[in-house]
Amino acid sequence: MMLSKLSIVKLWLALLGLAFLVSCSDAPERIEFSGGTMGTTYSVVLFSKDPRHSADKIQTKVDTVLERVNAQMSTYDPNSELSQFNQLESTEPVVISRDLERVVSRALDIARETDGALDITVGPLVNLWGFGPNGKPEQQPTAEELSAISKRVGYEKLSVSNHQLIKAHPEMYVDLSTIAKGYGVDKVGNLMDQLGIKQYLIEIGGEILAKGGKPADEKWKLAVEKPVSTERAVQEIVEFKEGALATSGDYRNYFEENGRRYSHIIDPATAEPIQHNLVSVSVFADDAMSVDAYATALLVMGTEKAKAFADANQLAVMLIYKTDEGFEEYTSQWFKPLLVSNK
Ligand code: FAD
Repeated sequence: MMLSKLSIVKLWLALLGLAFLVSCSDAPERIEFSGGTMGTTYSVVLFSKDPRHSADKIQTKVDTVLERVNAQMSTYDPNSELSQFNQLESTEPVVISRDLERVVSRALDIARETDGALDITVGPLVNLWGFGPNGKPEQQPTAEELSAISKRVGYEKLSVSNHQLIKAHPEMYVDLSTIAKGYGVDKVGNLMDQLGIKQYLIEIGGEILAKGGKPADEKWKLAVEKPVSTERAVQEIVEFKEGALATSGDYRNYFEENGRRYSHIIDPATAEPIQHNLVSVSVFADDAMSVDAYATALLVMGTEKAKAFADANQLAVMLIYKTDEGFEEYTSQWFKPLLVSNK
């Protein structure tokens, strides 16, 4: 049967249209949602071709994952697994969940690596300075209070073995605020992987995990904010396809007294909030739990020590520190490829 020219043209256009339709419906759908967790907010952006993936179905699963992390690691929930451990005034070993074991073990590793700059046993000091669940005290802690509390602080007095957590001082109090948000991000990332989602960006309170880039081979593009509390301004734009990014700073959670800033970042060596010119640390690596912890640890170290630690450990970091002329920036060689302005 000979087709007339017109019908050939119609057939061709129809096929083109179909091809266009297929290619359109072939493009992955952008799905995004946000919510609250751990006293802050979270957001998820993902791309999927799977018609079974809807925002509300996936968000329900994400909320379940985050509720579990809260129930295990919150010091704001008196009934959490961690709070129960903190309330127990005993040096007897306590069997803990695998998740809690993983997070405490990682925090103790990074404590040893950073010579105690990161120390999850500083909880009593965090609370005494007013940055914990009980809010700000009437007046600053006295030297006597600080020295009495310091007996209960020190990561060497905490140990994990055989799925058990052991405190060497009965009144030790573990605070995982520096690392458990990052762990929550990683757990949501595991959920995405289990659902077969290959392109996603997860953020909780500024800790980020990205995978697979965006469609059309685009990278995820993110802003690192200027370390100022008076406005939201961009310090740098970074882009990457895969990896985790966390930023710690002393410019959001602080109070000022007699011209001095007291932030929620405690130097375990002095039992006081940090007092140096380093104000923001961003760290990029494979997992969100580690970058979350390293960002706090390097902020405690101060500018020169943080630079040396990053170079010795080939860590991708961006430091922002105060000088008389304003903010200066230091980016390690492993961080530079992320900078968009660097292109
Ligand atoms: P980061 O730099 O990531 O962490 C700083 C925090 O780590 C400090 O706030 C302090 O707690 C601790 N820290 C300070 N110095 C050190 C040090 N040298 N070594 C180790 N740790 C140190 N906040 C609420 O207001 N309400 C809530 O209900 C609530 N629930 C939470 C539940 C969970 C599971 C977690 C992990 C945190 C929760 N938080 C809550 C706290 C809040 O989410 C943030 O963790 C907190 O504000 C610090 O996060 P950040 O990114 O600002 O600072």
